[in-house]
Amino acid sequence: MEVLFKKYPKCKTALQWWCNAYYTAENDVQQMSRFSISRNKWLKEFLMQNPPDFPISNKCCEYAKKKPAKRFIKETYADLEITGIRKAEGGIRSANYKSCFSESKSKGCNTYRPIFWYTDSDKRDYEKFYGVEHSRCYTEYGLKRTGCVGCPFDQKINEELDVIMQNEPKLYQAAINIFGKSYEYTRKYHEFQKMMKLQEKDRNKRIRR
Ligand code: SF4
Repeated sequence: MEVLFKKYPKCKTALQWWCNAYYTAENDVQQMSRFSISRNKWLKEFLMQNPPDFPISNKCCEYAKKKPAKRFIKETYADLEITGIRKAEGGIRSANYKSCFSESKSKGCNTYRPIFWYTDSDKRDYEKFYGVEHSRCYTEYGLKRTGCVGCPFDQKINEELDVIMQNEPKLYQAAINIFGKSYEYTRKYHEFQKMMKLQEKDRNKRIRR
């Protein structure tokens, strides 16, 4: 990491991910991040053996969500934003926060998360009490959580695509047109994982003999 960081000082976050390291502002190694590359087994090996031939980025998050939200805060002089993140939902979103309130000078306004501490059972009680009606994605299609349709960063994208294909064929086609190459690449990685797993099993068998 030190060697790479010296060479690419502006690429800190990506290098932390690639090297399984979490660095403080002073550049001391503290711990391995829960979002390191090794959280996805054999991903590094796969990327090195199969470099992608198409661009991969999270720029749609940047330009469709983050930047417009920042612009709105600026244009409306907002001093507080309220978001619906719950700690119990897990994932990157909730792991980024420690409490229901945070101050941010860089963002230009503070953030309040009123349902941050709601447990899953609190959520069920709330739904019952207020008669909350959920989208068909949950009640008919069987999805457990939703975000952007067909987001290629979704860990379970293949299962989600099957659901979309069955229930929303036109939406499925739209997702394929936009993210088709990413889906193919993810499938290839899952095949690679299976192959590596088998090879590892064989190796372990031979060692035990
Ligand atoms: S599709 Fe995925 S990467 Fe794109 S904006 Fe939605 S969540 Fe972000």
